[in-house]
Order: sequence, then C-alpha cells, then structure tokens
Amino acid sequence: MGISQKSDPRRIAVLGATGSIGQSGLDVIAASHGRLTAAVLTAHRQTAKLAELAGRFRPEVLVVTDPDADRTPLADLAKTTRIFYGPEGLDEAVSSPEVDIVLAAIVGGAGLRGSWRALEAGKTLALANKESLVLAGSLLCGLARKTGGRILPVDSEHSAIWQALASCRPAEAPYGPGMPGSGEQIRRLILTASGGPFRNRPLAELERVTVAEALAHPTWKMGKKITIDSATMMNKAFEIIEARWLFGLPPEKIDVMIHPQSIIHSMVEFIDGAVVAQLGTPDMRLPIQLALNGMERLPGPAAPLDWSMTRTLELIPPDEGRFPAISLGRRVARDGGSAGAVVNAANEVAVAAFLAGKIPFCRITGICQSILDHHQFEQEPSLERLFELDRQARMEAQAWISD
Ligand code: NAD
Ligand code: MG
Repeated sequence: MGISQKSDPRRIAVLGATGSIGQSGLDVIAASHGRLTAAVLTAHRQTAKLAELAGRFRPEVLVVTDPDADRTPLADLAKTTRIFYGPEGLDEAVSSPEVDIVLAAIVGGAGLRGSWRALEAGKTLALANKESLVLAGSLLCGLARKTGGRILPVDSEHSAIWQALASCRPAEAPYGPGMPGSGEQIRRLILTASGGPFRNRPLAELERVTVAEALAHPTWKMGKKITIDSATMMNKAFEIIEARWLFGLPPEKIDVMIHPQSIIHSMVEFIDGAVVAQLGTPDMRLPIQLALNGMERLPGPAAPLDWSMTRTLELIPPDEGRFPAISLGRRVARDGGSAGAVVNAANEVAVAAFLAGKIPFCRITGICQSILDHHQFEQEPSLERLFELDRQARMEAQAWISD
C-alpha cells in the first residue's frame, strides 16, 4: 500500500486561507497527492485572492467574513460554489459534515469564533490561531472534552513539544488538552524564541525603531501582527498561555530560551534530566502538515535541514527586563479567567496603532500591562462575557492611545 493511502482522505476547512499560514496550509494540501482536500476556504477582504485560490483548489464552500468586501471577483464562482458573506458564514462552513479538520489560521481574537464552532461540532482543530486559547483557553478545553473534538497544535513550538512528549507516553495514547499521564513526568517545557529583530538593540533605541525594522523578522516570514508580536515577545507570552492550556501545565513549568537560529523548535525536560527537542528548518509547512495528517508522519513540502554545513545553535536565557511581555504572559497563564481576553484585545489595538504610526514600539507592552492592571478580574466568565470584556478592553486601549 502506498504511503499516501494509509488513511482516508481528509477534508480541510482553511480559515484565513489568504494569510501566511493559510497559504502554507494550501501548499501542504497541494503536495498531499489527494490525501488532503480543501473543502472550505475563508478570507476577510481579499476576494480576488480567494477567487484565485478557489480556482486552484475547488472547495465546495467559500466564506468572506467581511460583509462589505468587494464581491465582484467571486461572481463567476457563485454558480458552482456556495458562498457566505459575514462572520456567521463560518458557523455553517466549519460544522458541515463535509469537513474533517479545521485549520484555524485567522489572525487575532476574530479567530475564536471558528475555533469554537469547530470544537462544538466535534471536529479536529488544527490550531494556528493561538489567540483563541489566550482569550478562552479554559472554555475551549472544556468544550473539547465535552464534544470529543481534538486540538492539534500548529504553532511550531507547541508542535515540537507535542512531538517531544510522544517520547514519554504510548504512541496510541489519545491526545487531548491536559494529556493525562504525562504531566508528572515533565520537569519543564522550554519554548524557544528567535528574540526577534531587537534582541541586541540598546534599550534606549527601542523608543525610535520604525515599523519597517519591526517587520523585518530575522528567521520567519509571517503575517504583520504576529511579526510585531515576535518583536515585542508578546508572541512568546501568548505561547506560554497556549502551552498552559494545551498541555495542562502550570506556568512555573514553562520556560523560554532565546534561540536566534530558529532550528530547535522547543524542548521538554523530563524528571530524569533528559531533554527531548525537535529540530527542523523554520518552515511552518512542517507543523501544519503534521496536524492535518493527525500527527502522522508523511513526506511533505518542507525542506529538510542541510547537514552538509557547520552550524552553531545558541540557547540564551531571555532578558526579561528587555521583554516585559514574558512575565506578563506568565501572569495571565497563572490567573486565567478574564485576563487573557483583556491582554489580547489591548495588544491587538496597540499593535494596530504602532503599525499606523500612532504610538512608539515600546508602548505596546506598556498599554497591555496598564489595561490588565486596571481591569476588574473575573474568574469564570462565559463566552459571551469574554466577548463583552474584549470589546471593553479594545475601547479602553483606544482611550490610552489617544491620551
Ligand atoms: P495573516 O495576517 O497572514 O493572515 C490572516 C488571515 O486571517 C487572512 O486570511 C485574513 O483574511 C484573515 N482575517 C483577518 N482578519 C479577519 C477577521 N476579522 N475575520 C476573519 N478573518 C480574518 O496572519 P498569519 O501570519 O497567517 O497568522 C494567522 C494565525 O496563525 C495567527 O493567529 C498567528 O498568531 C498564528 N501563527 C502564525 C504563524 C506564521 O508563521 N505566520 C506561526 C504560528 C502561529
Ligand atoms: Mg510560534
């Protein structure tokens, strides 16, 4: 039997198909020899790009989440394809019986809706949208337990940890939030971080860095928002929170190490002192393909490491004074409740303001900190309440920016 026939074909809903992860996901689908198919594609505004992708991948359903987006590029496709406009379109598309796996690759808190609906419908959620877990980690993990929906990590660090954890539990053990049976064997998770473009920049100069400098990530090519999050290290803060929910570990057991080469994607230190790491080129197609294939290993489009060259792999403890986002992330991971929704909302507003030239780079984390310090913490907010808190925090962050 050929390797590509090992399991049934999987039909994928690619949420955020026009973005960086969406495109990498489609590369993986295109290289899968028909094993993976694109059943649903979504985009927010880029309807011309969506039309082009629909021509290549022939999905049954398209969703354009911004109801005001230009519909003309999709006019011809409307004869053969079901097209939904507005965020509500995600609900039906994601829960359709024609979908096996949902690749959650929308950016920001807007991604939570699709993640929620996918788990509610008991689907497998290949999760790139870490903001879903930052906002509503406790509720999403509870929902997955209730419906039997699985959350598979796409974020490269969490994929690496998942792979490292496979060394301490039987291969057939079911994966799920909390991963019963493995927690007591883990001394710590070590998330690696490139350190972004400002790792060695004198602190006094961070006041003056430009948008172009902040967008010039040394090792990964990604969407704008996560690229700025990497420069502030808010991305690593969010990954601490993400790991807390995905692996059910307290934040004291989640460490960060700067690794400028982005070859070691993360590590697990076990109680016997052994450290298991996953290495590979910095190419998101690898963790995406692992998740879309249900964590089964198959050949794929990611380039292997070049072993003919000498390379140095550095691991440097982070300077948390330079990157206050890391301790903010630990605090939110420890507190849970409403903290994640508030910080995520403040960060989205602050990043957008920085990209628009309205605030200096070094104010982004400060705004998140201030909004968190001023908000009335709630331990067990409902999903509706989290959306409400998200709206309030966005308004407050706007007010801080206008001051
Ligand atoms: P991107 O900006 O390149 O793409 C975002 C996608 O989301 C686009 O398809 C866009 O149309 C859609 N979108 C934007 N706003 C929307 C809204 N309000 N409603 C619905 N759809 C909307 O972003 P990206 O870099 O691909 O990142 C996507 C997610 O994956 C983020 O959560 C990010 O943190 C995570 N992630 C990205 C990478 C990476 O390498 N790019 C790595 C790890 C995790
Ligand atoms: Mg990551």
